[in-house]
Amino acid sequence: MDITSRCHVLTSTLYPWFDTQWQQLNKLLSANKLPHALIINGAKGIGKLHFAGSIARLVLCQNANQAGGEQAQACGQCHSCQLFDTSGHPDLYHLTPEEGAQIKVDQVRDLSNFMHNTAQQGGYRVVILNPAEAMNISAANALLKTLEEPGEKSLLLLIADQLGQVMPTIKSRCQRIDCPKPSADVAVPWLSNALDMPQDQAQQLLNVVHGAPLLGLSFKSGGDQALRGELIMGLKSILQQKVSPLDLASKYAKADALVLISWMYSLLVDVSKLHLASEECEIVNADMRKMLNTLSQRSNIHDIHKLADKVQGHRNALLARQNPNKQLLLEDLFLDWKNLI
Ligand SMILES: [Zn+2]
Repeated sequence: MDITSRCHVLTSTLYPWFDTQWQQLNKLLSANKLPHALIINGAKGIGKLHFAGSIARLVLCQNANQAGGEQAQACGQCHSCQLFDTSGHPDLYHLTPEEGAQIKVDQVRDLSNFMHNTAQQGGYRVVILNPAEAMNISAANALLKTLEEPGEKSLLLLIADQLGQVMPTIKSRCQRIDCPKPSADVAVPWLSNALDMPQDQAQQLLNVVHGAPLLGLSFKSGGDQALRGELIMGLKSILQQKVSPLDLASKYAKADALVLISWMYSLLVDVSKLHLASEECEIVNADMRKMLNTLSQRSNIHDIHKLADKVQGHRNALLARQNPNKQLLLEDLFLDWKNLI
């Protein structure tokens, strides 16, 4: 395996909402009970990869402070820390899906070889596999063998956005670290500070990204905000019969369908709320209140619920990596959207 082809330069930011999990890890370390495999479980966009990076940096550090009940920290000075922070550490391997959405068996075999080799810096070898649910069945079976016979001083960190889709036999061989979404009183000030925006706007943004602070960051900087605006204007144009569902779907042939239909679902939940409560009730997509109010007045609640269920069904199929035809899927949903009024 060519070492330069591995992606192993990682950040190791430890977000404030990971305090409990960091303490959990510290306890394992100070009691000398760090297992060979951890599964880091939580929603997408809360910083699990950065947390895994922090663990990796700490166990690779040659000079970590683990004394006297204090929280252990990587020193930031030793050769390992310097490698980690600059070019990437040769004893750290970050495994992600290759082209397509799957982690394949050959990739897992490379990983096993890596874990059984001697560490170049004489310490741990760390693998971060991200996300665990992306392994196809043969890859997962290959990983089981590695979990049964881990190499000396090796640590495997599996990251799971969708724990339910990870094989039970894999889960049972890993110690689990659960990472819930941060509460609003932690996430709102953090996002407000990170984006230099008032707290009420940060709260609104967090609502749109379902409480995942890092999705809030990328929403602002990565073009998702523009994409959401475009989608909502497109859906509005469908209701106004200015654009056909098929034409709108064709615009999104290459977009992330999961993200698009999550937004669509969120709009439908808001419409359903507006049906049942007053026009001023609290909704996630407060910036689209006018369109959503009009839709709630002109639609039938049963049709809204039926479409919301359908969106969830498509979402689950995408999450289960069944690879449905995304354009057909969007056409289907946009047609039903048109028929709401
Ligand atoms: Zn160090």
